[in-house]
Amino acid sequence: MISIHIGVDDVDSIHGGCTTHFAAKLAFELKKRGFSFIDYLNLVRLNPAVPFKTRGNGAVALRLAVESESEYYVVWELAKHMLNEYISELKDPKHQPVIAVFRGSVGERVQKLAVKAMSDIVTLDLALKAVEKEGVEFYSPKSELRGLIGALAAIGYTMQNTDYTFELIAYRVREYWGKPRLVDAESVIRVDKVFKDKLLLNYDYESNRVLITPRGPDPVLLGLRGEEPGVLIEAFKLLVIHEPVEYIAIYRTNQHTDSHLKRLNSICDAHPYMCVSVVGVVKTKPERLRGGHVFFELCDSACCITVAAYEPTKSFRDVVEKLEPGDLIEACGCIRPPGPGHGPTLNLEKLRVIELARVFRYENPRCPVCGARMESAGRDKGYRCKKCSFRDPNARKVAVPVRREIKPGWYQPPYSAFKHLMKPIERFGREKKFFNGQVEYDVVVKLA
Ligand code: ATP
Repeated sequence: MISIHIGVDDVDSIHGGCTTHFAAKLAFELKKRGFSFIDYLNLVRLNPAVPFKTRGNGAVALRLAVESESEYYVVWELAKHMLNEYISELKDPKHQPVIAVFRGSVGERVQKLAVKAMSDIVTLDLALKAVEKEGVEFYSPKSELRGLIGALAAIGYTMQNTDYTFELIAYRVREYWGKPRLVDAESVIRVDKVFKDKLLLNYDYESNRVLITPRGPDPVLLGLRGEEPGVLIEAFKLLVIHEPVEYIAIYRTNQHTDSHLKRLNSICDAHPYMCVSVVGVVKTKPERLRGGHVFFELCDSACCITVAAYEPTKSFRDVVEKLEPGDLIEACGCIRPPGPGHGPTLNLEKLRVIELARVFRYENPRCPVCGARMESAGRDKGYRCKKCSFRDPNARKVAVPVRREIKPGWYQPPYSAFKHLMKPIERFGREKKFFNGQVEYDVVVKLA
């Protein structure tokens, strides 16, 4: 048996294509020819801050076992042929699709590249070096090769000993691309209530928004996310859908695992386009500025960075505004590059209050004779009591500790502001530690 890993990326187009859709179609053809999958389709989300992504920076890996070299060539030739066919229907000057294939156990170099591609920028040179050293084959219908980075990263992020979740994606038939998605919202709420925390991010009750249906002209009808594939299939059956579904495919994925957050020892190591978690002390009182964005400065002993809770994070901004200078926090998010009028800015995704600073309000002292609140007797002249005329030239304002409206712990935005990789606090402690290699459900099924 030879295990083969096929990675693919950048197949999407503004006219309606999508890398996962291509992968599902390829998986279906492979299944039809009797090939067996050694894993669910892997949907690997990469650095959400890369400037050249179209939507969610997703790449896909298909992992299967073949019995001989000749079977390997059948698979590889079919994959290349199908990519050419798919691309020819979606003429788009922007995308740089690449499909890559690797035989055997995925090497450390490709695994490391995958980890870097999640939280940082990977150069094409680095990807080409890995291809050469590890013996990866690749094919691109175009001369530009940027898709190789994602294709390799998908191969390299095997999720054997790291956390993962699942997504069931349902695809639309071609005639429906670009039309409103006919998924009954009530049924989404019902499914959410029935399966509770076995599913992830289906509905946002703060904004009353269905989250399983994307916008735009792509072929995805809906994506149900959750902890186990069997539950996703059950949940899908309960949805009320008023249009035909072409395929459903099941993906094992790093979505909602925070795999993009690189823990840094110092804020000095944070640079643009990196996704990080840093610990620091709040330096300035958070301030809501034009556009409704909230900003503050966060510092450690050597460096500072601006942190922003942007307007789409809605009620999360109210939490951030409760921070005070001196609070010790952990801030998670990706770094926006500097622009006119601002430096590099950490786009806050999640926040942990580690230790609250003691905050004081300063009040006029009380009169020691009658107990009334005294008033200032003039600059440097102490205080006097208006009620009984007592004067104390040495009296000073009294520091009164303020009750803080925020407690130590984790805080996050509402689900409608979540990006694919962000791990909800509700998943803390539920992280998976390994994959048992069993593919219990069909990775793809054709329905229409
Ligand atoms: P879709 O979800 O439809 O596939 P997308 O949002 O995933 O679209 P792509 O069109 O795939 O976006 O574009 C992402 C491009 O960025 C790919 O060419 C990919 O190889 C590249 N890329 C992904 N991550 C990195 C990274 N960390 N560093 C450099 N390039 C990257």
